[in-house]
Order: sequence, then structure tokens, then C-alpha cells
Amino acid sequence: SDSAQRQSNHNTDVNQLKKLKAEPFARRQKIEQHRKSLPIAAVEKVLLEEVRNNDTLIVVGETGSGKTTQLPQYLNNGGFCRNGGIIGITQPRRVAAITVAKRVAEECGVALGQQVGYAIRFEDATSRSTRIKYMTDGLLLREALLDSYLSKYSVIIVDEAHERTVHTDVLLGLLKTVQKTRSQGVSDAVNIDHREAKNGMLLEKHNGSEVASILKQCRGKKLSPLKIIIMSASLDARVFSEYFGGARAVHVQGRQYPVDILYTRQPETDYIDATLITIFQIHMEEGPGDVLVFLTGQEEIESVERLVHERLPQLSESKRKLLTFPIFSSLPSEKQMKVFMPAPVGFRKVILATNIAETSVTIPGIKYVIDPGMVKVRTYEASTGIEPLIIIKTSKAQALQRSGRAGREGPGKCYRLYPESEFDKLKDSTTPEIKRCNLSNVILHLKALGIDDIIGFDFIEQPDRIAIIKSMELLFLLGALTEESKLSDPVGQKMARLPLDPIYSKALIIASQFNCLEEMLIVVAMLSVESIFYAPREKLEESRIALKSFASPEGDHLTLLNVYRASEEFLQKSNLVNSKEKAEKNLRKWCKENFINSRSVKHARDIHSQIRRNAEQMGFHVTSCGDDLLPLRRCLAASFFLNAALKQPDGTYRALSSGLTVQIHPSSVLFRMKPDCIIFDELVRTNHNYIRNISRIDYLWLAELAPQCYALQE
Ligand code: ADP
Ligand code: MG
Repeated sequence: SDSAQRQSNHNTDVNQLKKLKAEPFARRQKIEQHRKSLPIAAVEKVLLEEVRNNDTLIVVGETGSGKTTQLPQYLNNGGFCRNGGIIGITQPRRVAAITVAKRVAEECGVALGQQVGYAIRFEDATSRSTRIKYMTDGLLLREALLDSYLSKYSVIIVDEAHERTVHTDVLLGLLKTVQKTRSQGVSDAVNIDHREAKNGMLLEKHNGSEVASILKQCRGKKLSPLKIIIMSASLDARVFSEYFGGARAVHVQGRQYPVDILYTRQPETDYIDATLITIFQIHMEEGPGDVLVFLTGQEEIESVERLVHERLPQLSESKRKLLTFPIFSSLPSEKQMKVFMPAPVGFRKVILATNIAETSVTIPGIKYVIDPGMVKVRTYEASTGIEPLIIIKTSKAQALQRSGRAGREGPGKCYRLYPESEFDKLKDSTTPEIKRCNLSNVILHLKALGIDDIIGFDFIEQPDRIAIIKSMELLFLLGALTEESKLSDPVGQKMARLPLDPIYSKALIIASQFNCLEEMLIVVAMLSVESIFYAPREKLEESRIALKSFASPEGDHLTLLNVYRASEEFLQKSNLVNSKEKAEKNLRKWCKENFINSRSVKHARDIHSQIRRNAEQMGFHVTSCGDDLLPLRRCLAASFFLNAALKQPDGTYRALSSGLTVQIHPSSVLFRMKPDCIIFDELVRTNHNYIRNISRIDYLWLAELAPQCYALQE
């Protein structure tokens, strides 16, 4: 029987082997079929021809037609990487960059990070062999700081241009200049080469220093003209075409099945509750098909996810076959890919997404869309200088994109959780971000690129002059700009190099001088992720008690530091006796017990290691202040001084620079303590002006550490 056993083992091994060999083949075939079936496949040749003939091209096509995943592959196969140039594709969102790169790597049958890769802030999955590179628009802007001609790219595709993020807008302006310079550079270079060969003349004698420097940068790399492709899901290509001097636009025909739009009779008071009811209504009453729910952010997504799982056991056993999948930008990338996997037979998938699923990523299998009609956006009030995150109604264009997601593979249904009369009142399209954001980052960036005249910059849409001036003022107060509005050396230069908001960069720069950079790196990493703690409604008391063991009487920043360190310590101990996977799993359990969001902590760890590397590369000394955290608190005051607030007799606070009345958010460890003077990280506007992530400071520090802003009254 022993040999029989061995024989059968052998058989299964052989079968396994066959399966392994057969699977990639079957999978490849399936992928090929899928690729050929996409609407864009019909125009592959036409598109290649258009790109050859036009240096700038606008490609408009319905979501899901194959623009993002296919066009770069066509270009690569069509020889656009022949001279060593690579194809860059920018996305407004990191999730899109990651998931699409993974998909395309799979379609090409290569390992991610080889011929196909991605790069986002804090993460680089590319290599020397990368030919197709997906990245965020912000990241390409950063690359321009190091290589102002973006010389390694032969083609740059600005994807999702209709989103009009501030990065996209700035990038368009920059690309316009780069394209012009590069084609001038090319013709000059050709001339010079020619004459050089003829006369043996020296470059410098020839055409001034500019061409010489272009050539110096590009010598050996061969400077080719830059092809720019702008892709958009909105049918209105006019603004882009006009901006690029009447550039040609091609339309890719999409495929769309009818979608039934259902409205509520009355406005909903609680759209989370309405969402939940609708999910279960679809699940109980409708036929097979997956559900896509649009929510405003991680917190909402996670709370709906919890609520679904709480209610599920109340259903009869046979009805419990419902799986939830979240997708939002700070979700670790291995989790993001899960939404694309088909649900097991008999199960219904419910995808809980931010507006990432509107146009950036297309998830197969969706038949039902739930659209509460809300979206979270950052706004900027130039008058007060504050940048609250607010939840507002979507535009009509967004509502249409969302409902369109239900009709990709067959007829579908979209449940808009508001009355039809409300739809008519929505704005046609979203205001471009550049019209409603703090511009300090943009200005810092442009200055670092050597573009000093911000007001004169050729933006696709001019930002408000007041917003520009206010943002310059902020940079000046942080010490990044000189009185002549030039980038200061070294503070401004360093700030421009760090991939962080100017205030966070300032915090790191100051902390490096006061020997508490080790701590500040952690604080900044923790501030860079959403919701470290979670407090389920039914376990509020327990979560408060858990928080107490980390809480610092000095405030949330030190509390975040404690949480980070406790999690690190736990992980290290666990690592000693466990495998890496087991240790990570234990950490997740530990987080859960402590009402800490393990996803956020993981994300913070990644960010931390990245910014630590940045800081080290820039020559900062990463030293610790040890147990005495006073220097850290003083550094916080010296960087967040524009967000200082003083307690009022009625227990509210007055924000000193804006004059606004604000309140400490209930999630803060200082909510009850209410110190006299505080600094805060952000202002969230709901029915109150809530401030979050707060630390106690001594008000005398303000005059001492930020004399450009504060003086003691005589
Ligand atoms: P577009 O950019 O025009 O909106 P995409 O190129 O993103 O279109 O998507 C084309 C097709 O590829 C869609 O049908 C989508 O379902 C499919 N697709 C994209 N990413 C994945 C993935 N990770 N897994 C499975 N299918 C995917
Ligand atoms: Mg796309």
C-alpha cells in the first residue's frame, strides 16, 4: 500500500504539473480574448497612426473601453520605446496606478516592476527594464525636479485628465513647455551635430549655454521629441484641444447597456443607513450580479463594512452569501487587487469604493450601483487660509459616470439615494481642483523648477490671484520664500525636495536641528494616514479605555507616537518567535484588540521608512530626543504655528491666524482636558469647525519660535 500511496502521490504531482502548465496557457488565451474584445482594439492601428502624426493627441473614450490598459501596450508594440525611451502614464490616484500596472503586467505576461511597473509617492516598483510606467501625476511632477526635460520618456500619457486635479493641471502646463524645449533642443542638436562633424567646432562656441546644457543633459540619451497624449472620459475634449493649440482629438466608441435609474421618494436624512438598507434590498430581491457602492472615504467604507457584517447573521443561512470588498487609496496594495477577483459561485460581491471607481478603475461584474450622491473634497478658503475637507453633493457628470458603471456587461440598475428633483439641481461638472485648493505646494514646486512668475504661468485654468498671494504668504511665513519671493536656501530648497506638505516638511527640517527627527518622522508618517483609531458605535466605551493606554496628556501627536512605538515593539517581539507572516497576523490581532486600524498603521510604517530614507539622502541626521519630548513639542509649535488656537471662556477655541471659532474633535485625547493654547493638524467642517490632531503648547513659544507671526503684547 506504501507504493500505491507513492504512486498516487506521483500521479497527483503529475496532474499538478500539467495543470500548472495548462493554466498560464488557458489564462493567456483568455486574456488575449479579453483584449481583443475591448472597444479600443478596433482602432489600434488608427490610434498608432494618429500618435505618429501628431505630437499632441487627445483621446476621449468611455470608461472601460480600454484606454488605460491597452494604449500603452499598443505604443510599446508600435515601436515608441525603440530608442530606449519609455512610456509614462499618469493617474490622479495611487490605487489606479497600482492596480492598472498589475493588470497590464499580467496581460503582458511579465513580472510587475520589470517591463511594466508603477511608481507612486513612497513606493517605486520599476526597474531599468521598465518600458511602461504607471505613476501618479504628482510623482511625475516630482521627477521633473530632477530631470527637467523628462528625458527618459518618449511618450507621456496624462490619463483621467477630466478629473482636473491640481497636479494634472500643473503637469499639462509643464509638459507643454517640455515638449517645446525638447523639439527645439532636438533640431538644435541636429544642427550642431551636423556642423560639428563638418567643422569640428566646439559646442560652446556655437549656440549659447542653453543648448549646451540641454545637450549635456541628454548626451548619450538621445533627446527625442516628446509625444503627449491626453486621455479623458468626459466627452468634452475642447478645453484640452484649445490649450494645446488646437490639438487633434480622437473618440473611442464605448459600449453601454441600458441602466435603470431609481431615485428615492424623499431626501434621506442618513445616507449611510439608506445605503445599508439598499445593499440588503438588492441582495434579497434582485437577481445575481455584484454591487458597487460609492462612499466618501475610508471611515465611511469601514463603518459600512462593519455594519453589513453585523447584520448578515440575521439573514437565513442561504442568504448569507455576501462578501464585501473595500477599495480606497490608502488600502495596502495587496488588498486592492482583491476587488477584481470574481466572487465564488453563489456569492454576491459588494464593493465599497470611493470615487476611485467612478472612472479610474473598472471592476468587472458590476450590475448594481448604489450612489448616495456624496463626495469628499478638499476646499480652500483664501480669506481664512484654511483647507477643510468637506462632503458635498456630486456633480451631474459624476452621477452619470457612477450609474454608467452598472451597464458595462449587460443592463443594470443604479440606485440614487436622493429624489429625482435633486438631480436637476446638481452642478454640471466638478470645479477644477486648482480653483479650490491651497496652492503652496504648487508654488513651491514651480519655483523649484525655476518658474518664478506664478501669476504669469500658462495654466489651463488660472487659479484665483488671491489664492496665489495667500499661498505665497504661507510659504514666506514658513521660511520657504525670501522677501523677493525666491525659493530660500536651504529651507525652501529642502522643502521642495521632500514629498510632503510644506508644514510637514518644515516640521522635519526643524526637528533635524533640534535632535528629535526620529520622533518627528514617526509623527509625520502617522499624520499622513487616515484614521489610526476606530471607535465602533456599540463599543465606544471599550475603545476609549483602549486609547487611554496610549494617550499622552500633551496631546494627539505624542499619542500617535506612542501607538506607533507600541506597535513596532509588539511586532519586533512577535518577530523573534514567529515567521514574518505570523508576526504580521499577530499584529493585526493586537491592533484589533486595541481599536487601532491595522491598515493605517501598516501604511504609516511604509511612509515612515520612505520619508526616513528621503531625509537621510538629504543629509539630515536622524537622532532621537530620548524620553524628554519637550523639543518635539517645541518643534511642533515651530512648524504648525499657523494652526495655533487659544481657549475662549466658553470652552471653544479661537484659531489665531484665521480668527475662526473652532472646537476640539471628540476623537482627540485633549477633548476633555482643553488646554489653554494648542496647535492642530487639520480642520474638518461638519456642523462645527472641528480641529483634529492637537497638541498642547505654551503660548510663549509662539512669539519665541514664530516671531514672523506673533509678538507678545507689551
Ligand atoms: P478605460 O481606461 O478606458 O476606462 P481600462 O483600460 O481601465 O479602460 O479597462 C479595460 C478593461 O479591462 C475593463 O473591461 C476592465 O474590466 C478590465 N480590467 C482592468 N483592470 C482589471 C483587473 N485588474 N482585473 C480584471 N480586469 C481588469
Ligand atoms: Mg482609464
